[in-house]
Amino acid sequence: MYKRVLLKLSGESLGGPEGKGLDPESLNRFASEIADAVKAGHQIAIVNGGGNIFRGLQGVGDGFDRVIGDRMGMLATIINSLALSSALRSIGIKAEVFTSTPLEPFARYYNKDNAVKVLEEGGVALIAGGTGSPYFTTDSGAALRALELGADALLKGTKVDGVYTADPKKDPTATRYEELTFTKALADHLKVMDQTAYALCEQGPVPIVVFDITKDGNLARLLNGEPIGTVVHA
Ligand code: UDP
Repeated sequence: MYKRVLLKLSGESLGGPEGKGLDPESLNRFASEIADAVKAGHQIAIVNGGGNIFRGLQGVGDGFDRVIGDRMGMLATIINSLALSSALRSIGIKAEVFTSTPLEPFARYYNKDNAVKVLEEGGVALIAGGTGSPYFTTDSGAALRALELGADALLKGTKVDGVYTADPKKDPTATRYEELTFTKALADHLKVMDQTAYALCEQGPVPIVVFDITKDGNLARLLNGEPIGTVVHA
């Protein structure tokens, strides 16, 4: 169903149960699920978040300058992508990290054609550093790369199993959508993705699937066409 996908992994999901730092067990589990998907013939590009290490906005509360804090957040996403690329390479998958701003020799400066080449050759392209600009999130970066790479879908892997009518942690009556339109997600300010990401994907259009990546086998189920999570579509 989905041949080429852009997988967005939140920083928190790489931080294990605590959502902080880098959890080797989570990294290895993601690497193994991604490897299975690649071997099954799917093309996987990845955009990581950085919230397990640093978020610009949270730094502002601690007295950091917003733009410097956002740069620190973008660098955090690069650390995450390097870690995941190492886990993928250790199990024999070709994985190449690209960065939105030049950072050679740590990683390659991102260029759409080079990233597509990696995907077409059966490798995983990890595109790090967000959009390269402050005041954005990695959700927006993921949407931008999904459009650019001509992805069939943006798969947003998080710790929740979809988009809810309200925050299920705060409102026990909240229910999960199986599908909804970009127009509704934007009008109702549904928060699982940020509004810029919804708006960009609406333009594609590239559908977004929000799903629980922490559950073993969910990525394969989704790629096999099982109705997992919430699909946001045009
Ligand atoms: N960030 C940024 N520009 C971007 C993407 C990310 O400035 O295009 C910074 C921002 O400070 C953000 C941090 O990087 O808080 C980590 O990204 P994000 O919060 O999206 O990570 P996630 O919540 O997915 O772990």
